[in-house]
Amino acid sequence: MSFKDVIGQENAVRLLTGAIKRGRIASSYLFAGEQGIGKKFTAVNFAKALNCLNPVDFDACDECPSCKKIDAGTHPDFLVIESEGEEIKVDAIRKLEEVLSLKAYEAGTKVVIVDDAERMNIHAANAFLKTLEEPPSGSLIILVSSSPDRLPETIRSRCLRINFTPLSPEACATVIEKSSRKHKDIQLLVRLSMGRAGLALKEDLIKERDSVIEALSSMPGGKQPWGDRKDMEKWFDTALLLLRDMAVLKITGSADELINKDIAEKIKDMSSNTALKVIINCYEKFLYLRNSLGFNLNKAITWNYTGSIMEELKSHA
Ligand SMILES: [Zn+2]
Repeated sequence: MSFKDVIGQENAVRLLTGAIKRGRIASSYLFAGEQGIGKKFTAVNFAKALNCLNPVDFDACDECPSCKKIDAGTHPDFLVIESEGEEIKVDAIRKLEEVLSLKAYEAGTKVVIVDDAERMNIHAANAFLKTLEEPPSGSLIILVSSSPDRLPETIRSRCLRINFTPLSPEACATVIEKSSRKHKDIQLLVRLSMGRAGLALKEDLIKERDSVIEALSSMPGGKQPWGDRKDMEKWFDTALLLLRDMAVLKITGSADELINKDIAEKIKDMSSNTALKVIINCYEKFLYLRNSLGFNLNKAITWNYTGSIMEELKSHA
């Protein structure tokens, strides 16, 4: 893979290849934008392009030993840091410091990618800040984050920010089509993923949606299904799409504009006896919860509160 394989992020790729061409690479970048739209994929290809032994138009050749080693995760000058559970801990940052402090083995640029960078805990962030303030020469740090606002301002301000945008429906469909997984309804996946093709590839969005419908219908009550915050975010995103569709069906009386077109009958059942303003009110409360998840809401309390919102919705039936 190389920059050529990045779909729907032309602006970001243009900025990065431009920087390579002019030999003006910042020492740290922040790749910001929603989950599943190609930020980390672009970061890996940036590392490949910078270290490629045989670059083609400032892009990686995808065949030389350096490109192959980065793909295999065995390149000594390349490291990806990910969270352990909910957090990136200080140990991971120590590892980053170690890689960056050594002389590059292969005379290229040492690249460290910190995925879900907003998950750095306070100790990790403090340690990391020191590295950012005095970046070793010939090194590059790329922070990848779907919630850049949760990063400390001291860290954000030291990185060159590149914004990634959700994919167009066409680009999203292309990513899904190119994947090796078999998909029976690409257009449905495009709508459900809302331009976040990576989600459509990694997860079974249709199954996920069906389980959210089941949970919503049995509320209040039921067992809360969330593992971590990302699960909660996805759950609320799905629930919001369903409530959105209930409102749209109420307003337009037609299934044409629905995201969940394939289950229009079900959406109709869920909304037929409820007034539009009750649905909208419920949507706003869900949206508020969704936007508050960054504050580490207690799962059990959130589940109960969600149940009480649904109870309200149903009691107006
Ligand atoms: Zn190469």
